[in-house]
Amino acid sequence: MSPAAVYLHTPFCRSRCSYCDFATGMYDSASAERYVRALCSEIAGWQEVESPTLIDTIYFGGGTPSLLSIDQIERILTAVRNRFKVAEDSELTLEINPGDGGTRGDFFRDLRGLGINRASFGAQTFDDCELKMLGRTHGSSDIPETFKQLRHAGFDNINFDLIAGLPGQTRAGWLRNLDQALELRPEHLSLYLLDVHEGTPLADQIKRGMRRKPNDDLAAEMYATMIEQVCASGYEHYEISNFCLPGFMSRHNSKYWTGAPYYGFGNSAHSYDGARRRWANERHAAKYVELIDRGESPIVERTELTEADARSEAIFLGLRLMRGIDLQSYELRFGRNLREEFNGELDRLREAGLIEFDEELLKLTTRGALLSNEVFAALT
Ligand code: SF4
Repeated sequence: MSPAAVYLHTPFCRSRCSYCDFATGMYDSASAERYVRALCSEIAGWQEVESPTLIDTIYFGGGTPSLLSIDQIERILTAVRNRFKVAEDSELTLEINPGDGGTRGDFFRDLRGLGINRASFGAQTFDDCELKMLGRTHGSSDIPETFKQLRHAGFDNINFDLIAGLPGQTRAGWLRNLDQALELRPEHLSLYLLDVHEGTPLADQIKRGMRRKPNDDLAAEMYATMIEQVCASGYEHYEISNFCLPGFMSRHNSKYWTGAPYYGFGNSAHSYDGARRRWANERHAAKYVELIDRGESPIVERTELTEADARSEAIFLGLRLMRGIDLQSYELRFGRNLREEFNGELDRLREAGLIEFDEELLKLTTRGALLSNEVFAALT
């Protein structure tokens, strides 16, 4: 089995973004400290798989992990290093929000000193009006400034998250965003189409007519243009929403798409043993801390995958990768020929221009990547 990944959740932010439905709340230093103690204690007492377990990616996600202090990040990393065997060349990522109080040059240098070698940062858009609409705390000038500080601190592997299809965003506006991101030339780009989640302030604003509903046709056009433009700048489109310069694929996220084991710690974190077992922690941070303080397990959900579940997941995750599904490996793993299994469906999807396949590979087309939910519904 390939080395595992470790995910560490930080459930705090400076303020709540209007589109966010993640398990995160407001930052205050006392709650953050209680949470970090609980997180370290969960890692130290964790017994879901046998020790020593080799891992080669660690990911601090959230929330806003860059709100934690260097001392807190160091304590969490020490807990991970005490519990797992961490490969020498591991990828260690920390998510950063541009312009956060803690994101200064010395903070970034200290992060490098702890072994964090990849920074992922939520740029979202370079347009100040759009940033305001999204409820982000940073301004557009914070993005190049934070990027420069990261480079000076020695980060040579940086990801930007950008969102397309925002209410009122034009094609020209999106292209300006993309140009500014490409000018900085981060090693990795995660480019998402806006998903409006029920119950978020943005969904409410759209319902009440305060914001324009995102236009699906325009979003499709933006997605196609984005692929063209980003690939023409030397990036590889390797996953539906992800692009990288050669050699800079996200090793951590690739674990999710290739069925490798991953272990999540903290509230709302999910885990997978790489075979048939999945489990998830308590979603709410305060309840999570209470469980840990009482010496109880924070795991609230366990799933045993059936053979059919495992096949569906292999198709769903395999198709997210633009290289597609290796049909021979699928047959070796499940003893089934995927082309025979979905014969009529595959022809229909190919005629609709959503997939392409030959004897070796089955993959999405650009149009299929945009309408991937339709393909997944037909094949899983
Ligand atoms: S910074 Fe990220 S996690 Fe925090 S509220 Fe905004 S979108 Fe949600």
